Amino acid sequence: MPATVMWFRRDLRLSDNPALLAAVERARAGDGEVVGLYVLDDALWRRAGANRLAYLVSSLSALGEACGGRLVVRRGDPRTVVPDVVRAVGAQEVHVAASHEPRGRSRDDDVEARLAAAGVALVRTGSAYAVSPGRLRTGGGTPYQVFTPFRAAWLDHGWRAPATRPREIPWAELPSDDLPAAPPTEATLPRAGEEAARRRWHDFVRDGLAGYATDRDRPDLDGTSAMSVHLRWGEVHPRTLLADLSTAGQDGVPGDAVTTFRSELAWREFHADVLHHRPDARTRSLRAVVPEDAWADGAAADDAFDAWAAGRTGYPLVDAGMRQLLATGWMHNRVRMVVASFLVKDLHVRWQRGAAHFMAHLVDGDVSQNQLNWQWVAGTGHDAAPYFRVFNPVTQGKKFDPDGVYVRRWVPELRDVAGRAVHEPWRLATPPAGYPAPLVDHAHERRVALDDFERARR
Ligand code: FAD
Repeated sequence: MPATVMWFRRDLRLSDNPALLAAVERARAGDGEVVGLYVLDDALWRRAGANRLAYLVSSLSALGEACGGRLVVRRGDPRTVVPDVVRAVGAQEVHVAASHEPRGRSRDDDVEARLAAAGVALVRTGSAYAVSPGRLRTGGGTPYQVFTPFRAAWLDHGWRAPATRPREIPWAELPSDDLPAAPPTEATLPRAGEEAARRRWHDFVRDGLAGYATDRDRPDLDGTSAMSVHLRWGEVHPRTLLADLSTAGQDGVPGDAVTTFRSELAWREFHADVLHHRPDARTRSLRAVVPEDAWADGAAADDAFDAWAAGRTGYPLVDAGMRQLLATGWMHNRVRMVVASFLVKDLHVRWQRGAAHFMAHLVDGDVSQNQLNWQWVAGTGHDAAPYFRVFNPVTQGKKFDPDGVYVRRWVPELRDVAGRAVHEPWRLATPPAGYPAPLVDHAHERRVALDDFERARR
């Protein structure tokens, strides 16, 4: 019986998955079966950090269960594995959700060419975004460079309603490789899978959404959705979230909460759009903002970077964030901005090095979101925070962690310091034992960063 292949990648779910629907329809039309395939790419396995791999294994296990144990996992290079599976089952079509990040695009182009040589089609239906990257253009036909008009066009364009979940899927039964053991990680990771994503989202809509506009900047509160990891792996599609937001708005959730959340999703789509048009943004600054000689190099830069990565800079909010990252594979957005600014503008270390550290640990690590957010903080993106905006780790701490709860949670050496004094331990009569003195003087380094910026402008 001819089979159709559904190749899962960053869409590890059965609901609201148009590519899966297309595969099921095609299989039914030919009275055939669907091969649910996931290829554990050796290149990805070597590159992704332990947290992302452990999460992936767990998410694949959840997807496997949802597929009634019929998910076919194969290890190897998709360029050879996908055509091999196609040949083995005599498939005519392979269905996928389109990839837009540079490596995924080139992999898909290669697989498409190899399949085409055998007369087999790679059918792309939808993507991981409400509006696929590359679709929106300015009136002049150019890609958007600035977020606000992009968001306006994105809202104007709109998106489809969530796709239905196929009722019965005629999964084919094929030999599968065992899921590899998850690599060891010290981090406590969130529960993976479509069901976990759905539960977390529903809890957030019920308990957190109404306060989102005000609480989202507070790392001491559980004020954000924690959906980034589920979106990263496609355990939920943003279209589903957007549809629920509209319903919540009609059900009385304050309009500013709905608008703010929608706007955050628009940032995700904007960054994916920018990377779609500028794949080089993965590694290169979209614009230079300081002279080359402004960057720290050599052993001094290594020492500063190591202290930052270990959460031992002597700036409590920075250290709390970096330790939250090591302990959980996640960091609150406000703190991500503060630690990134600190690395680039206080320690003068290139953003690429910080972005690589984030990618090694973040469970939601996503090349478009990570690299473009780093470029935003570093001031090197198209639509970025101006370089002269330097986050002050102390005032940010006092404002967004007003009682010091977040810092005390992640920096045990400071647990006995009460209240907001925890943000300036060097001012205490007896500085807490074991906690480092500030690595640098923020006011001085800010001046250096601004001078470097001025030099580049001249
Ligand atoms: P919520 O506040 O609940 O937001 C809802 C959703 O909106 C998020 O899940 C996310 O999909 C989107 N969103 C929110 N803020 C942003 C933003 N600034 N940019 C783009 N999308 C956003 N996000 C990632 O998903 N992967 C990354 O690798 C990543 N790296 C980052 C690196 C830096 C230096 C910074 C400053 C931000 C980074 N972000 C990244 C964006 C943001 O920090 C996370 O998406 C957010 O903290 C996730 O938590 P949440 O789901 O609870 O967010």
